[in-house]
Amino acid sequence: MKFDLHTHHHRCGHAVDEIESYIRSAIDLGLSAIGISDHSPYFAAEEDHPSPGLAMAKSEFPKYIEEVVKLKKQYEGKIEVLVGVESDYFTDSIKLYADIYRKYPIDYLIGSIHISGGKHISDRGLWTVLDEEQLELEKFIYFDLLQQAAKSGVFQIIGHMDLIRRYYKDFMQSCGPLVEKTMQVFAETDAVYEVNTSGIERGEGINPCREVLEIASHYGVKVTFGSDSHRPMRVGEHWDSTITLLKQLGYKELIMFRNLKPVSISI
Ligand SMILES: [Zn+2]
Ligand SMILES: [Zn+2]
Repeated sequence: MKFDLHTHHHRCGHAVDEIESYIRSAIDLGLSAIGISDHSPYFAAEEDHPSPGLAMAKSEFPKYIEEVVKLKKQYEGKIEVLVGVESDYFTDSIKLYADIYRKYPIDYLIGSIHISGGKHISDRGLWTVLDEEQLELEKFIYFDLLQQAAKSGVFQIIGHMDLIRRYYKDFMQSCGPLVEKTMQVFAETDAVYEVNTSGIERGEGINPCREVLEIASHYGVKVTFGSDSHRPMRVGEHWDSTITLLKQLGYKELIMFRNLKPVSISI
């Protein structure tokens, strides 16, 4: 059974097309389930829409959930549509976020660290100017946030957990012990991590990389799949090669979520 839990659409301001286009693409590609997981608004901000290119407005969030719920019913029997959110994790406002999510019929939440040490991880200009000493400090901040996100218990899935890899010349040499500790925390907190295939097109490979997947497998951390599509044609991308790799590493199942409950999918 093929599925994809990580997809976006136009509301976040940097993905294209309607939610329904992603669902149709998933049907065409033979997926049995698709999770819609657009970026959470900045709920703690004073303004309704502080970063139009990064996330939806706060006032859009109820409409977003309502639309996915409507599509879930509309496509019943053709494909299973799941209500997800890719949520930022911010230490100071996690309670606010959790209180909001509790009000909605959400199937799963992906907790992702996009901002670490005050810097957006996709903003290369802010990272490539850092010297080795500064990067040494940044890695502790980033992995601590990942562990906090898992321990918060708010998220079913942790997104693209080695995203800062792109800024480290020898990532495993530099961050291996932190990866190991983080995977232990994921195992203890029953956090499922995602294999995110969006980096393949950018020449960065999958997140996490094979070495991290091996550590995750060693600690028995469970895994799910997400293409992180920002265009409908990308839905389910690199599913086959990901499954082959996970099987090589000893995985026998993937996890998806319905109504916040894990569901095992044999591979
Ligand atoms: Zn995005
Ligand atoms: Zn993300």
